[in-house]
Amino acid sequence: MADIIDGNSIAAALRTDLAGSVDRLVDADHRPTLATVLMSPDPASETYVSMKQDDCEELGIDSRDVRLDTDAAAATLFETIDDLNRDGDVDGLLVQSPVPDHVDYREVVERIDPMKDVDAFHPENVGRLVAGYPRYKPCTPHGIQQLLAATGVDTAGADAVVVGRSRIVGKPMANLLIQRAPGGNATTTVCHSHTDDLGAKTRQADIVVAAAGVPELVDGSMLKPGAVVVDVGINRVETDDGGSELVGDVAFESAREQAGAITPVPGGVGPMTRAMLLYNTVKAAGLQHDVAVDLPDLAG
Ligand code: NDP
Repeated sequence: MADIIDGNSIAAALRTDLAGSVDRLVDADHRPTLATVLMSPDPASETYVSMKQDDCEELGIDSRDVRLDTDAAAATLFETIDDLNRDGDVDGLLVQSPVPDHVDYREVVERIDPMKDVDAFHPENVGRLVAGYPRYKPCTPHGIQQLLAATGVDTAGADAVVVGRSRIVGKPMANLLIQRAPGGNATTTVCHSHTDDLGAKTRQADIVVAAAGVPELVDGSMLKPGAVVVDVGINRVETDDGGSELVGDVAFESAREQAGAITPVPGGVGPMTRAMLLYNTVKAAGLQHDVAVDLPDLAG
């Protein structure tokens, strides 16, 4: 039976470290501030934004909660971003996705000041990550990297398979795993919807990161005994009694019989993603106000 990797407790320890960094900034006369912009009727997006605001409050980070009508002009969103870019009190800025269809999300991402880009989606920050000198790392893959480090998983020399090649999870995850740096140095295969015989790939892996958005795609028969399994997926599925439940991209019960360690859903990657947004906000405040915030770091 696999060990369960407890993302909640690893994230809690990280938040305690971050609280010390927030104190250092406050001592230097700057309280870190995160601005979130919501322009979506999607109730899930509203929940995500509220959680981000609550996380900030808990850590003593100030937040700005900007909400725009879904049918507002794209120009209104762009002006809001420009204002927040210019605001010296705002350290981190994110626009919750998705945005309405009449707004070009790529234009949104490219408009955010790269120094304030705590999602790390701006091409400048993506480029720095790929080049091997990241400023900010995207929250979910960075959270997974920290989760593996905290669990004592040595990625160096390991065979890793990342299932999914999205801009926010799969690609940056693979980039972090191949960096010539702590938390990297893994021999990494990236799989996607065109991959032939996914199981043949995952069965070779010491580390499997499943980020496909397909409920229970990876089961125990697709794992090497003792593999470390990180389940990024969050899928709401119907239950037999007409209700619903959250499941990951990994069939948990069968996978845990084969794996050496596995993250649960919920309580695995999710809390780490949230913690890493706070991490990036603190880092952004330190960089922009020239304060050494002394964050727990894995280079590369
Ligand atoms: P996307 O839909 O953007 O990307 C999914 C990727 O999986 C694509 O690259 C796709 O391939 C690939 N894929 C789809 N089906 C298969 C398959 N059958 N076999 C192999 N690869 C497949 O999703 P995200 O990366 O944004 O998110 C993935 C999951 O993680 C979702 O469930 C999401 O909710 C969750 N998530 C969780 C977070 C957390 O904090 N826990 C944070 C972010 C996301 P192709 O490119 O060919 O289409």
